[in-house]
Amino acid sequence: MIIRLNKNIDESKANALGKELQSFVLKKNGSFILVTPNKLKEVEEKHKSFVAESFVFNDDIQLASKKFIPHIREIKISDEIVIGGKTNNTVVITGPCSVESEAQIEQAAQLCKKLGVKILRAGAFKPRTSPYTFQGMGVDGLKLLDKMRHKYGLQIISEVRDSTHVQDIIQYADIIQIGAKSMYDHGILNACAKTKKPILLKRGFGTTLQEFVQAAEFILSGGNENVILCERGIRTFETKTRFTLDLCGVAWLKEHTNLPVILDPSHAIGYAYGVPDLTRACMAMGCDGLLIETHPNPAVAKSDASQQLNFEQFSNLYESLKPIAKAIGKNII
Ligand code: PEP
Ligand code: MN
Repeated sequence: MIIRLNKNIDESKANALGKELQSFVLKKNGSFILVTPNKLKEVEEKHKSFVAESFVFNDDIQLASKKFIPHIREIKISDEIVIGGKTNNTVVITGPCSVESEAQIEQAAQLCKKLGVKILRAGAFKPRTSPYTFQGMGVDGLKLLDKMRHKYGLQIISEVRDSTHVQDIIQYADIIQIGAKSMYDHGILNACAKTKKPILLKRGFGTTLQEFVQAAEFILSGGNENVILCERGIRTFETKTRFTLDLCGVAWLKEHTNLPVILDPSHAIGYAYGVPDLTRACMAMGCDGLLIETHPNPAVAKSDASQQLNFEQFSNLYESLKPIAKAIGKNII
């Protein structure tokens, strides 16, 4: 249950009530709210005078539920970049899978600048399936991203692979990405709950929608309201494509949760040939953002080589999204 306390309830009273009801205590729009276990279905008589409003849930999707906030939350990434709320914005994010060198990331930043893409992506800490492959440039990679951020006025999104470097990512990135392989990592989820920076939470490829949104609840209940979900494909029986992009799941998220949704067609299909069509399908469906991997020379990329678009392919794709956005009343930012 979520209980919004009366405005005159102070912090110490809110904390005492929170303790009594085994709740998270958060502050929202000037009042305290308690997020109790969902088993609680009714406000007890003795507490009624403290309560302004209450919301009952059938399961542990509470703060992320449309029953609590009936619209998509507005998330501000910078003064210029806002998604959700009343904006109708679809933010395009692009860049390579990994930062590999200054020259490579600078070319990606220049592509963003040329097209008007405002957010540059690239991993510095890579969660690879094999220990014998490129693991990322680490903090040196983050520093290169930071250089591009200042030189080209871009926002940066980069992935946190484990809880040992969350603070480094928080220091350098404007959006913190929690990857599919880390979606269940409570060290990461809890550390991300303690910052106010926007978090892009990717769906684990073997997780249900319920588990996915519950992972988001860890961040929300820990005090960070800025959670963006990312569907990036789930594992099915199909082997011809890398994963299967769950657009049905996206429809469910849009209907039932108040969190913006960004779609990642690149990791879903895993092959560049399919990325443009899939991205256009995502755009047509209406989403709050698109994340597409691009590389100056995909053939030599140190990770995810098969799925990255070259700059010409991406430029053509970007252009082709504009009439689709217009047709469904979205603004590409
Ligand atoms: C990535 O964005 O490069 C990445 C590793 O994504 P995912 O966590 O979705 O596999
Ligand atoms: Mn990748």
